[in-house]
Amino acid sequence: MERILIGDAVNYLGKEIKLSGWVNNRRDHGKLIFLEIRDRSGLIQSVIKPDIENYKSAKEIRPEDVLELEGEIISRPKGMENPKISTGGIEFKIKRLKVLAPSVTLPFDIYGDGYDIGEEKRMEYRYLDIRRPRLLKNLEKRHKINLFIREELAKKGFIEVETPILTKSTPEGARDFVVPSRLQPGNFYALPQSPQQYKQLLMVAGIEKYFQIARCFRDEDSRGDRQPEFTQLDIEMSFVEEDDILRLVENLLTDAVKNLYPNKKISQGDWPRIDYKEAVKKYNSDRPDLRNDKKNPQELSFLWVVNFPGFEWKETEKKWDSAHHPFTKLKIENYKEIKKAPSKITAYQYDLVLNGCEIGGGSLRITNPDDLETMFEFLGHSKTAIKEKFGHLMEAFKYGVPPHGGIALGLDRLLSVLENEPSIREVIAFPKTGDSRDLMMDSPSEISKEQLKELRLKIEKKRKQ
Ligand code: ASP
Repeated sequence: MERILIGDAVNYLGKEIKLSGWVNNRRDHGKLIFLEIRDRSGLIQSVIKPDIENYKSAKEIRPEDVLELEGEIISRPKGMENPKISTGGIEFKIKRLKVLAPSVTLPFDIYGDGYDIGEEKRMEYRYLDIRRPRLLKNLEKRHKINLFIREELAKKGFIEVETPILTKSTPEGARDFVVPSRLQPGNFYALPQSPQQYKQLLMVAGIEKYFQIARCFRDEDSRGDRQPEFTQLDIEMSFVEEDDILRLVENLLTDAVKNLYPNKKISQGDWPRIDYKEAVKKYNSDRPDLRNDKKNPQELSFLWVVNFPGFEWKETEKKWDSAHHPFTKLKIENYKEIKKAPSKITAYQYDLVLNGCEIGGGSLRITNPDDLETMFEFLGHSKTAIKEKFGHLMEAFKYGVPPHGGIALGLDRLLSVLENEPSIREVIAFPKTGDSRDLMMDSPSEISKEQLKELRLKIEKKRKQ
């Protein structure tokens, strides 16, 4: 017999079918055993009468056992219907049952929302935590958003291009995760802080409209709601103005909300564009929350902050640093004049804010190799360092580079706001702790002496256990 999904069981009234899934709940009424069976598509109430073949083994069934069941779909007696679930009008009369795998008692409850359970325990047993309907729903929603984005951008002529994970550092203002090379001992790859340089090189390559649902890695000290690896919707376009990029994102997200969150309301049809200076002056923040009613979970207030300063002063290092990244195009004619008054220079840089959270940012890029070099020099890189770190980009820009710009949206953060989740960890299948540990896999962990030897690495001091 072919397995039927619980969600489809309503179509089989009066028929014999096979269901497989987990025991969500068990209740005994005298000799009758009521099992609530769960698979990914839903829940169904099932009943076992003492006259079935292996009634004895049924007595031993426990929550979270995995069962294979054959029986008949019948209507529930009048007055016993449950309008809260889609299978609330039917019942599964079990005739044969097989325990495919037993389960011991779970370390925590998975049937509630789980917010009050210690998060470290939830992470350690994430595969159980994901059985929780809330988390399962979050992952399904995430999948749907990814699908929607891919389809919409494809319709608009974008192609998704994968870029390397083993790469070289791209400055995005954080520390790199590095990977030692076995074949070139003493040398290291860096994991990408973002695909920034690759996507710009794809513009030189003539791709024109690129996107990627890309994993980014930043080795930062634990700061609130951050993860060492996170996912961006990364976009880059050629022959565009700032307005084209903002409009694209505006339309994409408006359509995504309409299709996937029909009950949510976007406060402003045309998303406000606020000057960085004005935002700071008026709202004392570069990510103001302009919702009419902050208690209303269905309200979404998107806005753009534009015209960011090009540079910020780093007091600790006593030097100017780019406010975004060094590839950002400045609003000046002559780059040789940067040093005259860096604090006054603004850039073609924009951030996207949703309900007071920064969910994305991007810029138009410098494409003139001389300007780029002037920029790097101003930021304190020596000529040799520029060649070493960014030589490939400057070389590429000699071969006919189109004007281009782009943006990256933090998909984890976007989803957590849409789902009204308190943290991005709630929308990531396997998140890490604040100090970047994966408690389920127990990572990071030591590697063997042989591996170290092969990589020609020596550990000076072991971490305290
Ligand atoms: N790479 C940038 C970031 O990760 C986004 C961009 O400028 O497109 O913030």
